[in-house]
Amino acid sequence: MIVQKFGGTSVKSVARIKNVAGIIARAALTDKVVAVVSAMGDTTDYLVKLAHQASHSPNRRELDALLATGEQISAALMAMALNELNSPAVSLTGAQLGITTESIHTAARIVDINTERLRRHLDNGLVVIAAGFQGMTPEGDTTTLGRGGSDTTAVALAAALGASVCDIFTDVSGVYSADPNIVPTARLLKEISYEEMLEMARVGAQVLHPRAVELARKHQIPVRVRNTFDPDHEGTILKGVDGMEIYRPVSGVTVDRDQARLAILKVPDRPGVAGEIFGALADHRINVDMIIQAFHEGRSVNDITFTVKRSDLGAARQALNEAAARTGAEGVLADEDVAKVSIVGAGLMDQPDIAAQMFSALGRAGINIKMIATSEIRISCVVSDKEAERAVNLVHDLFHLDERE
Ligand code: ADP
Ligand code: ASP
Ligand code: MG
Repeated sequence: MIVQKFGGTSVKSVARIKNVAGIIARAALTDKVVAVVSAMGDTTDYLVKLAHQASHSPNRRELDALLATGEQISAALMAMALNELNSPAVSLTGAQLGITTESIHTAARIVDINTERLRRHLDNGLVVIAAGFQGMTPEGDTTTLGRGGSDTTAVALAAALGASVCDIFTDVSGVYSADPNIVPTARLLKEISYEEMLEMARVGAQVLHPRAVELARKHQIPVRVRNTFDPDHEGTILKGVDGMEIYRPVSGVTVDRDQARLAILKVPDRPGVAGEIFGALADHRINVDMIIQAFHEGRSVNDITFTVKRSDLGAARQALNEAAARTGAEGVLADEDVAKVSIVGAGLMDQPDIAAQMFSALGRAGINIKMIATSEIRISCVVSDKEAERAVNLVHDLFHLDERE
């Protein structure tokens, strides 16, 4: 049994849906197939836009009800196209797939999948076309899994069904050393560890949803990233690092432009203040990243700087202004002209000079580093958004990521 997933560009039009139906039908000749589909092209963006025309702040339950329809359209059309190829298929929504999620609208996590109905259809010889990106609460309300969440549907179904492989078909040939649409010399990686892929996905490599990679790692699902428009290409395979002794110091470089920087200035230096500030942000469900606290010599106050998603900036600024008033901080600064450029590699931890090389190269190119954060296998620099593409290309060249392994 295999799971395949086709993203938005792969099912952008009826012609492309027919093309994908051909790929699925071919797989169905030898395997039981569950194919997860995304909404056609930019449908989800369009639906979000409609929602904001109908309401200033759309009710999240209704937003989910609306957004889930995008995937339902492509699933039904895909099943029709397969039936046309004499490959009997049935489309199922998230609820019909038995996917139960938390009751957190627009960013729900999957808690359980009841595969009974799914297995029955497969046993009856049908291809199951699954509407991606959605589930249902225990009360029966429709939820969505967060943008890019169809990848997560695919890996979760593969885990629940014990599928032998989960093929993520997209519009590029696999995972590259950088976004091939930004770095022309990016090299296709034949394999990458779950850990590196997870880190890359979290810091902007949009090709896979981070939660999908997390699930794949947890259940050790062999995930392949492949090209819908070149389906015979092997693509990239995700695997565990066990048994690999030589790590690449740098596997990839990513950029995340959906970033903004906030600072709360001269916060009194006393226990509990940071908890109060970040508690206020958490109450508004705002995820915070790259926190830096800097001490003012002899003044008993600190500046605290951090990054958030650009789309959260308005809400974050408001929460921070309130926290500033409560804690006696001097003020709040916001900076939208930021992007996060990161290098990821399992071998980074053994090579302390890599960070210095990255910072020096950016410096030589006149690119100012606004913030720095590191993990065991990642180094991230916040730079001006205007410099981001140049920075990515420069770092890619610096570590010769275009060269063969
Ligand atoms: P889908 O609609 O199939 O889910 P996405 O647009 O979500 O596709 O993801 C595919 C895109 O991810 C590619 O077109 C590419 O521009 C981008 N991308 C970013 N980083 C990488 C990378 N390291 N390797 C491959 N693609 C990447
Ligand atoms: N259609 C959804 C989105 O655009 C989910 C997905 O494509 O993965 O975010
Ligand atoms: Mg995607």
